[in-house]
Amino acid sequence: MNRRDVLIASVAAGGSLLAARSGAATLAVRPDAELRLWDNHTGFGYEGPQDVSLLDHWRSAGAHYVCVNVGFDMAPWSSTFLAIADYTKAIAARSDMRLCATLADVQDAWRTGRMAVTFNIEGMGALNETLSLVELYYRLGVRQMLIAYNANNAAGGGCHDEDRGLTDFGRAVIREMNRVGMVVDCAHSGIRSGLEAMRLSDKPCIFSHANVRALHDHERNITDEQIKAVAATGGVVGINGLNLFLGRGPSTVEGVVRHIDYISKLVGPAHVGIALDCDPSGWTPPPPESLTPEMAALFEKYWPARQYSYDVKDDYLQPKALPQIARELTAQGYAEKDVRAIMGGNFMRVAAEVWAPRGMVA
Ligand SMILES: [Zn+2]
Repeated sequence: MNRRDVLIASVAAGGSLLAARSGAATLAVRPDAELRLWDNHTGFGYEGPQDVSLLDHWRSAGAHYVCVNVGFDMAPWSSTFLAIADYTKAIAARSDMRLCATLADVQDAWRTGRMAVTFNIEGMGALNETLSLVELYYRLGVRQMLIAYNANNAAGGGCHDEDRGLTDFGRAVIREMNRVGMVVDCAHSGIRSGLEAMRLSDKPCIFSHANVRALHDHERNITDEQIKAVAATGGVVGINGLNLFLGRGPSTVEGVVRHIDYISKLVGPAHVGIALDCDPSGWTPPPPESLTPEMAALFEKYWPARQYSYDVKDDYLQPKALPQIARELTAQGYAEKDVRAIMGGNFMRVAAEVWAPRGMVA
């Protein structure tokens, strides 16, 4: 099944479900004790069981952790379960990866030479307006979920839409995410909805993958007010490696470091990390003339032409850039402990503060 099929098909939930694992309640090491390459968001959508092979790009780059996307608001909500089922089975079959429920699991994966994996969801549309699904997704391995993917949904506003703030349902979801230990992610969401979520949340929030609007003016990028707000929660902004959001031509390591440096100077190096948003498959949106009217309307809703030009081809910084980013930070004078924090320690700190320590909701 390809991505387009996923978008148009309504698929039934199924497959074996991951039982939440229990782990130690405390973090065994300081988050910034070692250099860990933590990529907080993959950019490929669910395309069936074979997709797990795309993770080889991260594995061969030496990545220690990657958070895999299993659903977004453009796809039918139930396809999230199909993605989780297939990825869970495929990852379990790999001796060099581990689907993790706790930070103890993550550290165990590292001790045994495996890459740690968790899931994320882009948009509360995946809840089908059902609050109890937050805990179920958590038990299945989802550790962060954003409010809305670009367009408004039943929970709140998207960054390309007329954001009217969180709805009653959106506020209930934020509280439920706090309760179960799922990280509130304000990326892709409208400014007002994100700021409201950050005020409401009693745990650190993140922008899992979002760049600096002051450096490149795009609605997917975030303002200084948003950056200061997420830092005030104790959270982190993950810088992505997509040319569309970095600005200045093709994606480069220097371009990523430019955005890291801006946030580091604005709120400190404790509040920035990496989330490449890479799709190694090279998938790009089909040309407009090939779309049915329904698909064209869907694309315009979520990827409006005024913000997404077909003239600019997506250019993703690949996972092999992860160690290069660390080297570039060092070359630009960042202290070793700050490099370790930016490359993984900061997001690890958020996980330590937010994830349920035993992987199960009490
Ligand atoms: Zn995204």
